[in-house]
Amino acid sequence: MIFNDRIKNMQDDMVTSLQEIIRFKSVEGKKDGDMPFGKEVHDCLIYTLNLADKLGFKTKNVDNYAGYAEIGQGDDLIGILVHLDVVPEGDGWDYDPYGGEIADGKIFGRGTLDDKGPAIATLYAMKALLDEGVTLNKRVRIIFGLNEETGWAGINYYLEHEETPSLAFTPDAEFPACHGEKGITVFELKKDFKELLNDGGVEVLSITGGNAANMVPDYAEAKIIETYDIEPMINAYMKDKGGNLKLDRKDGVTTIQSTGISAHGSTPEVGENAISYLLDFVNNLDVKLGDSSSFIRGYERTIGLDYNGQRAGCGFEDEDSGKLTFNVGKIEMDKDSVKLLVNVRYPITTPLKVVEDGIKRTFKDIGMSYNLLDHMAPIYFPKDHELIVKLMKVYQEHTGDMSEPITMGGGTYARAMKNAVAFGGVFPGEPELAHQKNEYITIDNLVKQSQIYASALYELAK
Ligand SMILES: [Zn+2]
Repeated sequence: MIFNDRIKNMQDDMVTSLQEIIRFKSVEGKKDGDMPFGKEVHDCLIYTLNLADKLGFKTKNVDNYAGYAEIGQGDDLIGILVHLDVVPEGDGWDYDPYGGEIADGKIFGRGTLDDKGPAIATLYAMKALLDEGVTLNKRVRIIFGLNEETGWAGINYYLEHEETPSLAFTPDAEFPACHGEKGITVFELKKDFKELLNDGGVEVLSITGGNAANMVPDYAEAKIIETYDIEPMINAYMKDKGGNLKLDRKDGVTTIQSTGISAHGSTPEVGENAISYLLDFVNNLDVKLGDSSSFIRGYERTIGLDYNGQRAGCGFEDEDSGKLTFNVGKIEMDKDSVKLLVNVRYPITTPLKVVEDGIKRTFKDIGMSYNLLDHMAPIYFPKDHELIVKLMKVYQEHTGDMSEPITMGGGTYARAMKNAVAFGGVFPGEPELAHQKNEYITIDNLVKQSQIYASALYELAK
């Protein structure tokens, strides 16, 4: 832990750099001339390259698609994969999301955890190696990706045009080291409606909710025409099963509003799916028979309030990765059809085909077609892989935490190349605030991260 004091002494500089980089609203924008991800992302890259230059590293702008900064010498290359783009700030902040304000030992702002904080922590870790004057037999290169949140054009451009590190880590998840990431699929389930009987039941005009496959939706609503007063049923439902439902009646149309709790699509258990609660309630109503009612009944049978795919024919799990997760992120239903957008994260040892077959079979039974929109294969390293062993040793020495390497449902740059794993920067027990309001990093954790990364880089590059 020879770098600890040196990093502690750079704390003020590190904090200032993080505040400065937070002030770029580096959400991917439209291509602007030779700036493929827009001006704010570009300005953030230029700022970071200038900072690395000032710290004494060799830098390169890779045609505005990516950038890197390097120290050391040797044939072999150790990589750090970070990203400088952020997701939009969203609502409800108590601080300026692009202000870099400090309160109570915490630096607030979009990107403080994901991923600008870890990017600054690793840059200063490299600076500590340089200033300490240790001999490195390998080069260490930090690679700045520019559209991790929205597509991977930046990192892919880098990998096509520049040297690929032989070993790398990405500080874009949690500690300790992550030795596996689940497979990820995004797909659409669709059904066209033809039949509707005029049998005097409640008519469902539309059901809408959610924004994206990879988010647990926090709002959904159904517009219906009541043929009897459903208010007592809402109250009874919430008492019995939970959920947060409200009625709004206007011009003969009743809107059932369902409020859930938003969360990342990889952790549906942390949230409350507003769509599923809404459908679960509507299923109790005496709705007009036809294709739409058979969809509503079918949703109950195939999804309901379950988020592990048990009813959907894909309730798989394995020891290392745990249970499959099944997140309905969006629904669009009107008189003619219904579309669901779903994000499944499946266990490392389950083949994609097995997952897909189960889902297809289940939803075919309720007349829904399956259309795969996006797929990322799982990654896996045995716990005795060189990279995992070295990173775990460093983490344990610094923290005393002897827990095992982890797996997760999130997808990081570790999937972009061979021999890369996610390592930090959120510590166990700390809130995971990536993509949430009031995202922050404590100054203590920024320093602690940087100290761990310095030792890790030294272990990998000496
Ligand atoms: Zn990230």
